[in-house]
Amino acid sequence: MRGLSSFIVSLCLCIPLASCAPPAPPHAMPGAVTVSILDVGQGDAILVRSPEGKTALIDAGQSSSNIVSTLEQQGISTLDLVVVSHHHADHYGGMEKVIRAYHPRVFLASSSSHTSEPYLRLLRLVRDRGIQAIGPLQAPRKIELGTVVLTIFPQAPNDPKEENNNSIGIRVEYGSFSVLLPGDAQTRERRWWERMAPNLCADATVLKLAHHGSRNGTDARWLDLVRPQVAVASMGKDNEYRHPHPEIVELLARSQIPLLRTDRDGTVTIRSDGLHWQVFTHPEVSTGWPIFDQRKSDRSRGDRRSPPKPSSGLININKASKTQLRKIPGVGQVIADRIIKGRPYRTVDDLVRVEGIGEKRLTEIRPYIRAR
Ligand SMILES: [Zn+2]
Repeated sequence: MRGLSSFIVSLCLCIPLASCAPPAPPHAMPGAVTVSILDVGQGDAILVRSPEGKTALIDAGQSSSNIVSTLEQQGISTLDLVVVSHHHADHYGGMEKVIRAYHPRVFLASSSSHTSEPYLRLLRLVRDRGIQAIGPLQAPRKIELGTVVLTIFPQAPNDPKEENNNSIGIRVEYGSFSVLLPGDAQTRERRWWERMAPNLCADATVLKLAHHGSRNGTDARWLDLVRPQVAVASMGKDNEYRHPHPEIVELLARSQIPLLRTDRDGTVTIRSDGLHWQVFTHPEVSTGWPIFDQRKSDRSRGDRRSPPKPSSGLININKASKTQLRKIPGVGQVIADRIIKGRPYRTVDDLVRVEGIGEKRLTEIRPYIRAR
């Protein structure tokens, strides 16, 4: 069956959130997207900041969460977009406080009929404040957050029995860097995404684990498609649900996918310039090499250390599949196709003849590749 995602270019509805250009919050970084999986106890809250200072908050934790002070600590003064991934209180609970404090421009939620009095109160607040309310469509929906693109997954068939399966899926993209945010989607919804929108799920740099790392939020088939380089899960310390499930922790370990957890690691912040990426607090799980602040300090010391090699084997540019080639930092679909078209290569130096790979790029990716 042809995936809906193949219609993405022709059918997507673009909403540029680029109006009156407020000043960039102090934590936004020119030339880089910043994604923070916030520590809000048991629940989800994910903050996305574009290089231009545009901001999106996906979920806001429980009503008892300290979401507003957390956002203040993150230097957030305005929010362009807020999203409720699904109608469970550990995702929308803190949103009322957020809307009162920030008056975001756009509110995105599904039209699932699962509801409660606090959720209806939230919807009334959105209406009364005159905030534009939108939802997922039958086709992928693109939202431009400055130069960062959020693709909202097509709406899966409603599951009246399990609200987790009505989660809004989002792929955040900046250059070749991407973050997959599946809400609390359980197996039924993920299987639908796998069939109907495989391109939106495949090869994400970072996967926020669905349903706080529980057993129904992740499985081997899902990981085979998403192929994340790092997984992040949000949950409360010693939570009563025993998230994350030991089977998932073990599955990730077997798949050599590092797992970061807000209950142990606190807020997890990842930055990318669209080519390299780095988890600020955990440079050991970042692919690539010291970037941003580290790069500056290296330069000032005159330190010309070569970048660390990835722990897994080098990628053979003559034999690797397209998916494997995309594991090379900065290599997206287009460059991977060109690499395959340009085969064979006698040495890695021959890659310089591939359009889009100059001497500089070749120097950067050399530690990851081999020709035989
Ligand atoms: Zn949840």
